[in-house]
Order: sequence, then structure tokens, then C-alpha cells
Amino acid sequence: MEVLKNYINGEWVKSSSTETIEVLNPANQAVLAKVPYGSATAIDVATACETAYTAQKEWSKVPVMKRVQVLYQLKSLFEANREVIAKTITDESGKTRDESFGEIQRAIENIEVACGTPILMAGDVIEDIASGIDEMMIRQPLGVTACITPFNFPSMIVFWFLPYAIATGNAFIVKPSEKVPMTMMKIFSLMDQLDLPKGLISMVHGGKETVDAILEHPTIKAISFVGSTPVARYIYSKGTANGKRVQAQGGAKNPVIVLPDADVEMSTRIIADSVYGCAGQRCLAASTIVTVDDENRNLKDALYETVKSRTVGYGWDQGVSMGPVITPESKNRITDLIELGISEGANALLDGRKTKVSGYEEGNFLAPTILENGHLNKKLIQTEIFGPVMSLISMKTIEEAIAFVNSGQYGNMACLFTSNGASARKFRNEADAGNIGINIGVAAPMAQFPFSGWKDSFFGDLHGQGKHAIEFFTQTKVVIERWPNIWSRKF
Ligand code: NAD
Repeated sequence: MEVLKNYINGEWVKSSSTETIEVLNPANQAVLAKVPYGSATAIDVATACETAYTAQKEWSKVPVMKRVQVLYQLKSLFEANREVIAKTITDESGKTRDESFGEIQRAIENIEVACGTPILMAGDVIEDIASGIDEMMIRQPLGVTACITPFNFPSMIVFWFLPYAIATGNAFIVKPSEKVPMTMMKIFSLMDQLDLPKGLISMVHGGKETVDAILEHPTIKAISFVGSTPVARYIYSKGTANGKRVQAQGGAKNPVIVLPDADVEMSTRIIADSVYGCAGQRCLAASTIVTVDDENRNLKDALYETVKSRTVGYGWDQGVSMGPVITPESKNRITDLIELGISEGANALLDGRKTKVSGYEEGNFLAPTILENGHLNKKLIQTEIFGPVMSLISMKTIEEAIAFVNSGQYGNMACLFTSNGASARKFRNEADAGNIGINIGVAAPMAQFPFSGWKDSFFGDLHGQGKHAIEFFTQTKVVIERWPNIWSRKF
């Protein structure tokens, strides 16, 4: 079985580690490859840093208009290879065909926005800030930067950072999730064709030890992390203690409020997609649905009817609307949470635990589950499930529902369904979450906007995407100059 290579100094090279773990297809447990793991991967990080350091010195001198030309090249390569990248995403992460194509599109959009770096990283000048003195602020790259990514978006998440990092003149090291490293292998084989100095972009495989090496290496000036909250908190505290700039996105538990004046047909369709898209493994997936002011019989019945007909299976097969969850451990964790919720008093309108997919008996499949009337103070309603499970609860007023939203540990997203502008405005202003959706189920910001996140969903100041990314990957330098007017002098 193939052991995946690292991409360092523009070459595919064997890892220094002989330890490996298997990459499995979650639909059938087929072994796709072996990925390097263990403490010796720290040597690979050090080699990548050394070559990145030299490459960045050269790259930072290339004018920004020239630097962004590689992004145009990269966009074309992505577009010409969508199918092969999408198939790899499905095989290693379990997504459906449409979901895989969808995340590639979001990666491309970030490349497009980063093409605007010549304007986005422009500085400021004030002439004659004092008599005969001009002052300017310019943006310069940080040097060598790195990202550490989760399993649930094998292609897109790296591109919340990489296009901005290199367009602003940095070197960039990618540590993909060890659960889904194959997609980045494909993408790096495309990026190998870009006109970049050798070593400017690199990929190092591994797990915790590799991450620790990134956190410790003095050459790395900034780290972008996306993953679970405990790891995000760890990366932020250790990275900043080591003097690095860090942006660390964490987990989520996303509430959706449905007011009695919401359009039931539209809400049902959008909420079902939000909860069950990517088998619930999205940081912006809706998890708890709060209906306000009545039993919302219509919504409950409509959700039940829509959800029960979802077809679970291998994501590349036609007609499949939901793939497997990532690992057997993940499936067990989700199953245990469902059991716990029921034991604490929730009623299972739909219980997806026993589902089997013909031809894929070994897959990590769970069908959609709907649990009703869970206990607000118990684990089911408080914990990130990261699986295809909806909790349906009801409250009397919008105030009570907003207080519930704001009581949670996380602040990644909150959504409201209504036809009343005043309710929407109240929610937008009062809900404590970094991404707000009004009549939208997955409030994922477009690439022009920062991928926000509050409370335990984010550690840091500047987010990924758009202008925030440009700021994150640059440091400001303020220059004040006096040029005496020699022509007015008498010599
Ligand atoms: P994870 O935290 O287990 O892993 C993420 C990365 O951290 C991986 O590359 C992994 O190798 C590394 N890692 C894991 N444990 C580590 C440790 N102890 N020390 C150092 N590094 C470690 O996350 P995951 O399971 O791959 O992804 C799912 C999580 O990511 C969910 O909680 C989800 O909400 C979150 N997520 C958040 C966002 C967001 O934008 N806020 C986006 C996507 C996913």
C-alpha cells in the first residue's frame, strides 16, 4: 500500500517517519493509502521550514501584480480538474458528489478574491502630515506561515488561507488532516505546475507531533488552524506563547429559531439541508431547532416527511443525498449521544442508528435522526454532535429563544426563519454568534467576508478569507519621511 509522500522544496519526498496510519474510505473501510505519522515527522517540518525560509526571501521581492498571476493559473487548474478532486474528496471523506463539487467551488472563490491582493494589501499615505513631512503605512509579508486543517473540508479550508498567504508574499506550509490527506495530494500535484520558487509551498503529513513541531519551530511566524475547540484552544495558547500570530477556529453547536410567521415549506427544505448536509459534519450545520410560540405541528410534520426520504449511501452513487460519517469511532460517539438524549427524556421521531446500506455493509452510515423535546441542560442539547442528528425543541417567545442561543458555549452561527423584518433585525443585533443567517440554513460567508466565529468557536482576532486574511498574513510598517525642499534653499 502506498505511503503518502510529503511535498517539500518542490519535490515529492518520503517522510522521515516510518510510522504510518491508514486512510480509509468511510463508505466501506477500503484502505486508500498510508499516511506518515509520529514524532519523526518533526524532522520533515524542520526541512520544510528551511526551504520555505529561503524561497520566501526570493518571493517577497516579486511584485504583487506578478505574484497574483499564479492564482489565475491555480484557478484554471482547479477548474480543469474538478472531477478528479471531487472524487477524491468523496472517497476519503464520504461526501456526496454535489457536496464535493460545492466545496471545490468555495475554494475557487477564495482564489478569485485573493486575485485582488494588489488592491487589498494597499497601504495609506498622508502627504504633509506635518510641514514637509510625509507618512505612509505599508503592508509586508510575515515570512513562513502554516495551516493545520480538519477532516470535514479536505480541499476548501486550506484555501481560506493559502491564496492570501502567497499573494501577500509569504511561504506556506500545509498540514492536512491525517484522516483525509489524499485530496491535498491531488491539489499539490496541480500546484507543482505553478510558477513559484521551490519550497514556497509545502505539505507535511502527520498528526499531533507534526502540529507540535509547527508550534515550536521558530521560523514559522503565523498559524491558521481549523478543527475542534479543545485543539483550537491548545494551538492558540501554545502558538501565541511561542510568539506566533494565531487564528484558531473551533467547534460549534448551531441553533436555528423558527418563528410562527416563517414560510414552512422553505424553512423545512433549508433546515433539513443544514442539519443533514455532509452528514451533519459541518461547523455551520444546524443542530438544535427551536420553534417559537406554538407546537409548530406543520413544521414538525414537514421536517419528518422531508427527512425520512433522504437516501443514505456511498456519496459518488447517483441519487445519494447523504454519505457516511468519517470513522467508526465517530459513528459510535454519535450513536451514544442519541442513546443518552433518549435516556434523558427526548423522543425519537426518527432514529437513524440501525440503517444499513446494501453493498456497503462496513460503512459508517447513520440515517437522519430527529429527537424531540430534549432536556435543555443536558448533553444532547449542549454538545457538538457533528453527525446527522436534529434536536427539536419549542419555546414561548423570541426573547426566550435568543436567550437560549446566547447561553451556549459556542458562537459559530445562529439562524432565524421569519417573514417579519423587525424580528429579523432584533435577532441579527442580539444573537451572540459570528455568522448569522436569516432564512438561510448554513450561514457560510462568501470569500469576500471573514469566516467569523465567537466564543469557543474562535481564538484570535483576524479570521480567514477576504480582507481579514490579507491583514493576518501581513504586518504593517509605518514610514515617516522628511524631504527638505532643496529648491527653496539658498546654497
Ligand atoms: P480535530 O481538532 O480533531 O483535528 C484538526 C487538526 O488538528 C488535524 O489536522 C489534526 O491532525 C490536528 N490535531 C488533532 N488532535 C490534536 C492534538 N491533540 N494536538 C495537536 N493537533 C491535533 O478536528 P476534526 O475532527 O478533524 O474536525 C472536526 C472539528 O472541526 C469539529 O469540531 C468542527 O466543528 C471543527 N470545524 C470548525 C470549523 C470552523 O470554521 N469553525 C470548520 C470546520 C471544522
